[in-house]
Amino acid sequence: MNKEKFFQLIEKYHSPAGRYNYYPRISQWKNNSTVEQWYSEVSDYSGDLDLYIHIPFCEKFCHFCGCNVKIAQKDDAKNLYIEKLIHEWTTYKKDPRDIKNIFIGGGTPNSLTLSQFKKLFDGLGLKNESKITLSIEADPREINREKFLFLKSYGLSSVSLGLQDVDKDVLNIIGRPTDLETVKDSINFLSTLDLENLSLDMLYGLPKQGELSLTKFKGLLEEIEITAISLYPFANVPWFQDFYPLWEESKPSVQRKYEHYFELSSLLENNGFKTISFGHFFKSDSKFYKAFVENKLTRSIMGHSINKSPVLLGLGVSAISSGPKSLKQNEKIYENYLFQDIGAQSIHTKGQSEENLEDFFISLSSKTMFTTNLQIDDELISDGIITKENDNYRVTDLGRHFVQHIAKSIEKNIL
Ligand code: SF4
Repeated sequence: MNKEKFFQLIEKYHSPAGRYNYYPRISQWKNNSTVEQWYSEVSDYSGDLDLYIHIPFCEKFCHFCGCNVKIAQKDDAKNLYIEKLIHEWTTYKKDPRDIKNIFIGGGTPNSLTLSQFKKLFDGLGLKNESKITLSIEADPREINREKFLFLKSYGLSSVSLGLQDVDKDVLNIIGRPTDLETVKDSINFLSTLDLENLSLDMLYGLPKQGELSLTKFKGLLEEIEITAISLYPFANVPWFQDFYPLWEESKPSVQRKYEHYFELSSLLENNGFKTISFGHFFKSDSKFYKAFVENKLTRSIMGHSINKSPVLLGLGVSAISSGPKSLKQNEKIYENYLFQDIGAQSIHTKGQSEENLEDFFISLSSKTMFTTNLQIDDELISDGIITKENDNYRVTDLGRHFVQHIAKSIEKNIL
């Protein structure tokens, strides 16, 4: 990647942009539907389903985390939460044989015990050796082999590990002390499970992040086998404001933050990874990258996917669902989710133009080529972000780092 060109484009296009993994984003929802209408919409639908299950539990807070997290609950409390998840599933009155993909996110899903996973899967009516593909987010500092072998028997095909950085000083200052040897052992064990996808989540823009983070990460890449890496920008989280003054001196400038992104991206591209969209890299021989080349890759709320179902039901506190016509977010406060009737924090029924935009954003971030009637700014073409061939548009290799900005400029032309 050409560094000068990359920074010219960053200077021109940098501004906060959403992730566009569903549309419209929550801040644009009109709350124009009811829980009753939501259930009726889902009940009228009779095809394949995907499930997202939110497990909010973590041992302690990492000081950058914007997820919906509940700190260290006792087993009784976790069991109660699992019962509520199962109850929420039963309210849909769906056949578990219609479930195609399950995504378990958090929080730290692997903080559940083996018996809690069994309780959850039994309650959902899942059978092992079924055709479901199971994806899970996990903390690489606590991979229990027995638990993951159990998950494998339920179709585990994808594990996403939150690593964030590899420099001890960086990890300590963000409240996430990590033993790299444990992480390597975890990855090497997971590599034996014949997964379709084994990915790492990393952050850039963290305090103290510099040369050591890059060289150690380069060393790690040489010792492990993974298929994907996602780079996420560090962003201030309101509830950790008290920490930020302590970081002030070691916090990178905006320029340095993007330099770190550029250096990580170049490192990945030199090690056989390909950029699909901003911050998302897949190994060139991975199943997901091959699907991308063959135009079979797509995107859901949960990230890139090969075989997503038209409907995703989100179970658990703050979980987002994507129905045939509407988006729904569950209650965001843990105690309310646990002790109130199943309801929803908010529901938005999409208009036709929003549906079109959502389809377009999915294509933009997961297809090699797309057609559209939407207005594409000429500047995106003259800046080398997009090329036009007859009626088809193609995002260039460099342009893939700016997919969110393309989406934003197109959204701006519509709204
Ligand atoms: S980063 Fe992961 S482990 Fe840390 S608080 Fe957030 S969800 Fe929990």
